[in-house]
Amino acid sequence: MALRVGVVGYGTIGKRVADAVSRQPDMVLVGVAKTSPDYLALEALEKGYKLFVPRDSLPRFSGAGIKVEGSIEELLQSVDVVIDATPAGIGKRNRRLYEEYGVRAVFQGGEEPDVADVSFCALANYERAMGKRFVRVVSCNTTALARFIAALRLGGIGVERVRAFIVRRGADPHEFRRGPINDIVLNPPAVPSHHAKDVRTVIEDVDIVTIAVAAPVTLAHIHFLHLELSKAVSRADVLRSLKRCPRILLLSSVKGFNSVAQVIEWARDVGRLRNDVPELMVFENCLWVSGNELVAVVGVHQESIVVPENVDAVRAMMGVASKWSSIRRTDESLGLVVEGKVYG
Ligand code: NAD
Repeated sequence: MALRVGVVGYGTIGKRVADAVSRQPDMVLVGVAKTSPDYLALEALEKGYKLFVPRDSLPRFSGAGIKVEGSIEELLQSVDVVIDATPAGIGKRNRRLYEEYGVRAVFQGGEEPDVADVSFCALANYERAMGKRFVRVVSCNTTALARFIAALRLGGIGVERVRAFIVRRGADPHEFRRGPINDIVLNPPAVPSHHAKDVRTVIEDVDIVTIAVAAPVTLAHIHFLHLELSKAVSRADVLRSLKRCPRILLLSSVKGFNSVAQVIEWARDVGRLRNDVPELMVFENCLWVSGNELVAVVGVHQESIVVPENVDAVRAMMGVASKWSSIRRTDESLGLVVEGKVYG
């Protein structure tokens, strides 16, 4: 029987996750929950998604002439799993409601790790989420770092130490109130940034230090990585591991890829929904290996990198699929690059 899934919070992440769930043959999107009667609510209805809202928001929606299926509580009565994609901190509050209604829940990286039984990145620790009631998909930057480390380890390349310099996008494209507009802001003004601690919630045994700034761009983050490997390897070994690993996109400057804007443009040209690039973008020409040292530059499409992870988290919690079978199903259904990838 198909898994019944609800999505609470229909913003940047929630609307993408709802679309992804509705593409899974083994899942049914029961509905999405929203708090404001805006253009996104209308968009959800146009897609045929049932809309659920907090009880006290019902009059605002009916006043705006927007058809509502019921309250969030009613949504919870009809699902096996809820994916909570509300703004940071709200998920923790919602957890009480999910407990009350006996539903499993997937939270996002804006929540503190203690919101869930396990912090999750499919390539790195799918099995740890098997059968769990509450799972937290880590943030976009943490997913990127965990995925890169996992890709190398899956290829037999040990990673001892990571030093990551992160240039964060200042805002998502729709966030007209955020910045910076003309600055590069220490974000946070501390070393290590919270990302390092967060990576260790997924991969405990890695020595990692992260530093981050926010820049006036909305397209993507970019990471400059310096890794110490457990033994000397060749650049070809690293390239082989990255090429075969799902959810990693190797970008060659021979093909003209020298910036994240070009990759987003490519996604637009090949007809990807919303120009999304859920794969980690690895710029091949900036991959440098010497002995046991590795330097890489990776791009992170913050709006979509966690989307496949949410789908896999549902299967893992429900115990309905093994790691590689879920990852393959998710990737194929979302139109990610699967050619040349090895699943398992
Ligand atoms: P968002 O602000 O774009 O969307 C959140 C949505 O939840 C909004 O539509 C809001 O109206 C709705 N909402 C607020 N309170 C609600 C409630 N009580 N019930 C139902 N809906 C409610 O936020 P986002 O960027 O999608 O972020 C969601 C989560 O995903 C956060 O934890 C964030 O840290 C994480 N995340 C965001 C990004 C990103 O780049 N945007 C990347 C990875 C992870």
